[in-house]
Amino acid sequence: MSFEKIIGQETARKILQGLLKRKIFNRTFLFYGPQGTGKFTTALVFSQGINCRNSNDNNPCFSCRVCLLTGNLKHPDLLVIDVGTSGNIKLEDSFRVHDFACTVPLEGRFKIVIIKDAHHFTTEAANNLLKILEDLPEYLAVILISSHPQLLLPTILSRAVKIQFFPLSQEQIELFLLENYEITEGRAHLLSGLSQGSLGKAIDYISGDLLINMRKSVINYLYLLKSNKLVDAFACLGIQDKDSREESLKKLEILSLLVRDLLMYLAGFNHLIINIDLERDIKEICEELDFEKTQECLLFIVNSIKSANDYNVNPSLFWDKITIKIKDYMHA
Ligand SMILES: [Zn+2]
Repeated sequence: MSFEKIIGQETARKILQGLLKRKIFNRTFLFYGPQGTGKFTTALVFSQGINCRNSNDNNPCFSCRVCLLTGNLKHPDLLVIDVGTSGNIKLEDSFRVHDFACTVPLEGRFKIVIIKDAHHFTTEAANNLLKILEDLPEYLAVILISSHPQLLLPTILSRAVKIQFFPLSQEQIELFLLENYEITEGRAHLLSGLSQGSLGKAIDYISGDLLINMRKSVINYLYLLKSNKLVDAFACLGIQDKDSREESLKKLEILSLLVRDLLMYLAGFNHLIINIDLERDIKEICEELDFEKTQECLLFIVNSIKSANDYNVNPSLFWDKITIKIKDYMHA
């Protein structure tokens, strides 16, 4: 992995290589943008660049001891904080950062803290972290990673050097899948479309039948709503209160892609259908559907996903409303 191998993200790459050149490390950085777009990978390459012993032209060498250990997350001057099973970054995690930050680097020039999903800080942990950020030791770099930066404390946001990551193009993802996995062109095209700019998602989809099964239940759900079978539709999606936020969000995203495809079909843009292998079902569900109602329906689903993301809530809260809305739109 090197800066050149990071897919897309040219702006981020240029900024970071500029920082490496000017040796500006003693800062809080915020890498933000959609999930699965290379934020953590880039953070590791940047960390390697900061401490590499043989860096060349603002690129780490990837072969010195520091680069190798950093790449394997085993370097003593690197601390990676991730959400635990509780789904939160807790006060004790912020204490780990304090402990790590209070001594000088063991081997590298800098100590580096990478905090994944930084929007999952509890308020007390975030306030405790803020104490370090307000008075950053001269040998410390902190990289916050977040797909929902609006959920971070404004006092943390205002301190950070912000580096934005963008969704990848379908072509970039398709090419990566074809080059790195044994996969047919058709499947690479389908998965890159479904992943909506997130390479992480596309890779997730490759392993396992989760996506296929989930799409099947969402299609059945739409068929059942079309036949006015509200209770069965609900049961078929298997929505449960215990569904995790991620699980629930995934179902909702698949639903939004399928409803988007209904809209494409209704508009006569069949070549823009993402779930192309389900074209027959899409055609059947579309019978007697109204373009404008379907458009309203899609808008409602997209807004629900946005609210779930903006307020960090479990979208299972929205399923009742969404289901009734879709049924009503289908029968309007
Ligand atoms: Zn190196």
